[in-house]
Formats: sequence, C-alpha cells, structure tokens
Amino acid sequence: MRLIDSHAHLQSDPFETDRAATVEASFDAGIERLLVPGWDAGSSARALAMALADPRIDAAVGVHPHDASACSEADWAEIVHLAADPRAVAIGETGLDFDRMHSPQEEQLANLRRHLRLALDTGKPAILHCRSAAGQRDAQDALLSELRAAGFGGSPSAVAFGTRPPALLHSFSGPVDYAAAALELGLAVSFSGLVFRRGEEASADVARLVPGERLLIETDSPYLAPPGVPRGSVPGFGGRRNSPPWVRVTGEWLAQQRGQSPDSIGSGLVAAYDATFRRPSPG
Ligand SMILES: [Zn+2]
Repeated sequence: MRLIDSHAHLQSDPFETDRAATVEASFDAGIERLLVPGWDAGSSARALAMALADPRIDAAVGVHPHDASACSEADWAEIVHLAADPRAVAIGETGLDFDRMHSPQEEQLANLRRHLRLALDTGKPAILHCRSAAGQRDAQDALLSELRAAGFGGSPSAVAFGTRPPALLHSFSGPVDYAAAALELGLAVSFSGLVFRRGEEASADVARLVPGERLLIETDSPYLAPPGVPRGSVPGFGGRRNSPPWVRVTGEWLAQQRGQSPDSIGSGLVAAYDATFRRPSPG
C-alpha cells in the first residue's frame, strides 16, 4: 500500500534523539510524501530547515491556536518570511481549539484570520486544526463562518487556488454536515488516529463522503497514536509516541470504510497529496 503522512511534527522534542532514524524508517515503511508542520515561529523554522535539508520532506509554517496568545509581531513576521520559501508548501498548522482553550477565543480567531489571508496571498493551502469540547461543535461552526468570510469557496480562493483545495481539515473531528459544508467550500480532509477514539464515530461516514482527490491521511506524530503503538520509553506521551509508519493503520481503516483495496486507496492518497500541495521537487 502506498502511503503519505500529511502531518507529522518530526521537529518536536520527542524526536530529539532519533529524528534522522525516524525519517529513514518512514520512507522505508513505504511513505512517499511526508509533511512537517510548525506550530509557532521556532517550530516552523525547524520544519522548513528539515525540508531544505531533505527534498523528500515538505514543510508548513504557521501558529497553532494553542500558541496564538504567545505569538509576537516579530514571530508573525517570521512566519510570513518563512511562508515565502518554495519549500514551505502550506500555511499551518492553525485553526481553532475551543476544547482546551490554551489561548482566548478572540486571539485564536485573530490568529486564524491572518493565516487565511496568508494562504490566499501565497496560494498555499491552510492546514486547519479544529476541536470543540466533547459533544459541542462551536469551533467547527466558527471555522466555517471564518472561511466563508475570508472568501474561501468564493472568487478569492478560486483566483488564488484554481481547482486545488484552498485548505484542509487536519486530523478530522466533527459532525458529517460540517464535513459536507467544508467540502462544499473546496476543502480537503485528512484523517488521523483520532478516528479510533470514542466520540469520533462520525468519521466513518465522513470517510465515505470525501472525494478521492481531496482525501488525505496523517499521524499528527508524536500525538494520536492509533491502536497497536506499543508503550515505549518516550516521556510525556503516556508512553505511546506516534510516528509516520503508523499511518498505515489509518490507511487500512480508510480502505475498509470506502470498500476500496489498499492499493487503490494508496495510489489515490499520493495523487491527492500532489494535487493539494505544490511541491517544487517531487519524488
Ligand atoms: Zn498537529
């Protein structure tokens, strides 16, 4: 099965001692596309440095909603600067998190808005994190209204992106009608090990809804370990550190949900990745 990992924070501390080995293990496991997203200015610079050092890796630069309050004007200027590099293929991760609320809502919204503008300005898709508290959907509804207000699904995104997705819902979480509305705006959807968690049962229906050319998968490493990841010795993650080869578990789940063979899903994932991100040095 061909594989991609559209979202792995390999620049993060839990990979400090075995980063190079993890990258090699990922490609050895059949992963053909690997995207490392930032969550603040420093991690975005490190993501871009990884992409510049290894043409097989792509980077995204941006500020996570958790880090919205801590982002200074100088940090934002750095994000804009990094975003101009051709090896930064996307803007993010950014979005809204009304569950853990590490930054106040207003600051998350302001952070999201300038990322959406930067995506339109650069023609690089926004990578969007979106979580509400259990049983709620306020963040998802706010995200849709921010996307529409910024011109996604209208002529601003058509001018900047043509038929490419102007954004993607990373590590999908939310109700089916939210997914349908995002697809209506032209967005892509990426599934992670979150689909195996209680409360995320709608993901199975959404997996059948997404058109193949806008369907992605990811690990969100080091987070969201799917079933099967053994307890290891990495502190801070309940002993279960996720890494890109584990994306296969979500890939097989996806094939099952869609009634497709793993081979046909895999080829579709690589094609969808290449249709979503403009990569200056494919391969
Ligand atoms: Zn992430």
